[in-house]
Amino acid sequence: MSAYYQNFIGGHWRDGAGGERIAVENPATGEQLAEVARATPADVDAAVGAARRCVEDRSLVGLKPADRGRYLVDMGRWIVDHRGEIAELLTLDSGKTLQESGWEVDGCAGYLEYYGGLAPMVEGSYIPVGDGIVDYAIPVPYGVSAHIIPWNYPLDIVGRGIGPAIATGNAVVVKSPELDPITVTYVARAAEEVGLPPGALNVIAGYGHDAGDALSKHPDVGQITFTGSVETGQKVLHAAADAVIPTVVELGGKSAAIVLPDADLDVLTEQTRWGIYSNAGQVCSAMSRLVVPHDLRDEIVDRVVARSEELTVGPGIDSNDMGSLISAQQLERVDRYVRTAQEDGVTVATGGGRLDRPGHFYQPTVLVGVENGMTIAQEEVFGPVLSVISYTHEAEALAIANDSQYGLVSGVFGNDLDRVTYLADRLEAGQVFVNEWFLPGREAPFGGFKKSGFGREKGLLGLRSYYHWKNVGIRRK
Ligand code: NAD
Repeated sequence: MSAYYQNFIGGHWRDGAGGERIAVENPATGEQLAEVARATPADVDAAVGAARRCVEDRSLVGLKPADRGRYLVDMGRWIVDHRGEIAELLTLDSGKTLQESGWEVDGCAGYLEYYGGLAPMVEGSYIPVGDGIVDYAIPVPYGVSAHIIPWNYPLDIVGRGIGPAIATGNAVVVKSPELDPITVTYVARAAEEVGLPPGALNVIAGYGHDAGDALSKHPDVGQITFTGSVETGQKVLHAAADAVIPTVVELGGKSAAIVLPDADLDVLTEQTRWGIYSNAGQVCSAMSRLVVPHDLRDEIVDRVVARSEELTVGPGIDSNDMGSLISAQQLERVDRYVRTAQEDGVTVATGGGRLDRPGHFYQPTVLVGVENGMTIAQEEVFGPVLSVISYTHEAEALAIANDSQYGLVSGVFGNDLDRVTYLADRLEAGQVFVNEWFLPGREAPFGGFKKSGFGREKGLLGLRSYYHWKNVGIRRK
């Protein structure tokens, strides 16, 4: 691996304008892994300027959509061809397991290929408005599309955002996450390798408070896709409101799975393993609340605890089942939530502590006796901590699941179709998973209700976030 990664602006690799670098840590060891060029507001200005020139010279938007799409497909192929190298780097800078990193590389490439294939399918319409008038409506890209990326799935989220943005003809500026920015530079390398027009994709690494802030406020940005916390999302939304530009905001979650009395408990146990421990629980759509029938609570807890205790925790590079958290700060946050839950009277059924070794590791943790009004059930922990909450009547389970400021995803485990669909209709969430957590792929729309955000990504709907409409009316002689 390289010791230093530059920004990619207007088709060129560049140091930060201020000459500074950001040190990137390997969270599994606590040691420095590499450095990236630190983008300042001057670099943001250069990147937006390069994107703006690409919009104005029409080198992207003027292409046949199939040709534009082919660039994305080729970028996806290039990324797959470098899967091993990129996955290893992702594990080293994010702490996730090598298996999870491989899936994420595939995910990023998959979005580019999927949206590349869809590029020619974006169509306008002819509108009959009477004799003597020709009227048609055409989809028009916003111009410069800004993408602000969180650290938990840097590659995946870049792919799902820039895929539809470029497919529809926008030029993109990506601000990578400061904690694990390295693999995002590979998306820029893919663009360079396949000859994407200069300025169509710009990738900069910088801190949120200066580079992120400057990008969200830049007057030449025409659209913003922000993925991250509610607090930062609100700042970005204020900036977008001032500029009156459209945004997609993908924010946090506190998702509940309702277990019905007829649920298959083998399926549930295995799904819980992935639902809460994928990426060490640092997942916006993590299954962080398990809402179980009171009569089945002890049996379910025994099963989930046994499965949790089977997991090996350690450096992702060593084929463990669960890797490290992203930072010492994140480890501190997770531990603080567990301590607060204990002070509130919650019992730790398993886990509940850090690993006594270098790096930022936390044990797979199951909490029982959680009441939904407690902090642990209301706030996003973003770690491997499952809260088990019991209910007596189905209506109570539904009320618990919906009693949240968030509404990203929800789930139901059960086989009575009437009950499952009744609940699916009433759960306040952008996606409902039934009998399998994280079920739909890139083809299904994804996004939040309530404070989990708005706008949709993935699927055909994801394309619509990146264009508006122009109507042309012509009077014939
Ligand atoms: P964060 O809000 O701290 O940071 C997200 C990005 O915003 C980073 O690139 C950061 O540098 C940038 N940023 C920070 N301050 C900024 C500012 N003032 N102006 C502009 N940009 C700024 O979030 P995080 O800790 O990186 O990610 C975790 C959060 O992301 C969790 O809440 C998680 O649920 C959420 N998330 C949501 C989804 C989704 O699809 N809904 C997906 C992944 C993560």
